[in-house]
Amino acid sequence: MSVRVRFAPSPTGPLHMGGVRTALYNYLFAKANGGKFLLRIEDTDQTRFVDGAEDYIVEALNWCGLTIDEGDREGGEHGPYKQSLRSELYSKAVEDLLESGNAYRAFDTPEELAAMRADAESRKAVFQYDASTRGGCRNELSMSSEEVDEFIASGTPHVVRFKTPEAAEDVVFTDEIRGEVSISSAVVDDKVLMKMDGLPTYHLANVVDDHHMEISHVIRGEEWLPSAPLHILLYRAFGWDAPKFAHLPLILKPTGNGKLSKRDGDAGGFPVFPIEWNDPKSGATSSGYRENGYLPEAFINMLLMLGWNPGDEREKFTLEEAVECFSLDRIVKSGARFSPDKAKWFNELYLRDTPHDELASELSSMAAEKGIELSVKDALCIVGMMLERVSFLSEVFDANWLFETPCKDDFNLKMIKKKWKDETASYLEDLSVVLEGVADFKAEVIEAEFKAFLESRELGFGQVLLPFRIALTGAGGGPSMFEFAEYLGKEATLARLKSGVETALIIKAELSN
Ligand code: GLU
Repeated sequence: MSVRVRFAPSPTGPLHMGGVRTALYNYLFAKANGGKFLLRIEDTDQTRFVDGAEDYIVEALNWCGLTIDEGDREGGEHGPYKQSLRSELYSKAVEDLLESGNAYRAFDTPEELAAMRADAESRKAVFQYDASTRGGCRNELSMSSEEVDEFIASGTPHVVRFKTPEAAEDVVFTDEIRGEVSISSAVVDDKVLMKMDGLPTYHLANVVDDHHMEISHVIRGEEWLPSAPLHILLYRAFGWDAPKFAHLPLILKPTGNGKLSKRDGDAGGFPVFPIEWNDPKSGATSSGYRENGYLPEAFINMLLMLGWNPGDEREKFTLEEAVECFSLDRIVKSGARFSPDKAKWFNELYLRDTPHDELASELSSMAAEKGIELSVKDALCIVGMMLERVSFLSEVFDANWLFETPCKDDFNLKMIKKKWKDETASYLEDLSVVLEGVADFKAEVIEAEFKAFLESRELGFGQVLLPFRIALTGAGGGPSMFEFAEYLGKEATLARLKSGVETALIIKAELSN
């Protein structure tokens, strides 16, 4: 059997990262098995349609590198790949089910249904439209055929419902992740398959499409597990073979309690969407991994590990590497806890793997956007100094002192209070004289001279190095100051040293007042 899988989002808003993970696992499973990965847009519910959502989905998958084999834009033999363009197939399927007695027309008005629900509630029960209640409702099964004909002739609005089995039975199927699943048909209600407006519901369209698109494996979120028995019954009613099913575990909040939601992202300051989303109705913007500076490889690797593992300690996988070892049986059953720190860690991994000259040109253009002049050559030096210290390239700009002499407000007061002693300024003034004499202003030479200076004065590293850093940068941490001095050049280093000492002295005086 050839493997054909689909990612079937509804264009009702931006794609949550859980949705991207579903797409990723589908993609990997297809590629690992020489199969096809389809994108099907499930847009039957016109009331929930959101402008721009489909474009967003396509752009997000594209950013992640999840190439679609068959879809609305890619084409394919099983199109169209958008449910709103497949109405005829659904009408035909409903006709077939009506004919075979597996579905029936129901004329109950929304008010009547609400009344039945309220009545059940008053008896502390829940109303379910099924074999036990359908006789008391207004439908083809409870009404005389004349009455039904009359209703149809007069155009009375109606839905078509699935006729679940009269006698409860266990619907058993094998989930590729969970093993054997058995759910009683008694919990399955006579679901509406076709709405009053003649449009199919999710269940009908989904099953009909998976069949006609020859989908071999349905890989989707755990939230669809309760729908699986209905889908199995539908396949049986149509006389079709059901595909294999795999229901993916939830992605949990960082605390581990409950499903990760957009609100968790807002509260925790991390994105839950792959790329930025601008809501067309509210105008609100939700942040995206892309805009937050994540590399797509890192985002994808992080998602891969949220619910799957290779069975050993490895954590770093490019998409190609993941294709090599991905299998459904290594997907976990329980929820996978999302960690924003781990997400950052993955980005660091990939950032440090990126060729420095690539990062340098990107940094240089990022600088230009901020109105900072930074040649690619200088950017390359900065990359060399800062790469080990940042999770995102953009974080380089937090170190303002890389680009301009720090002003008084930039100085770290706590550091000065703790580390700037009465003698400090004189040490740095003497150091400045030493540096002035360095002909070859290279990091190794500066470092050697610095050490010789300490030795000759019987000073410890701590007494001079940190003040040297504070004077040059205003900050208490950062890259090697010998490298930074080389980057600045002799003249700028000496100028910064001079102004830095002056500023530190002013601050010190203010602090002791
Ligand atoms: N349209 C459904 C969704 O939005 C698809 C579920 C499925 O994959 O069967 O998640």
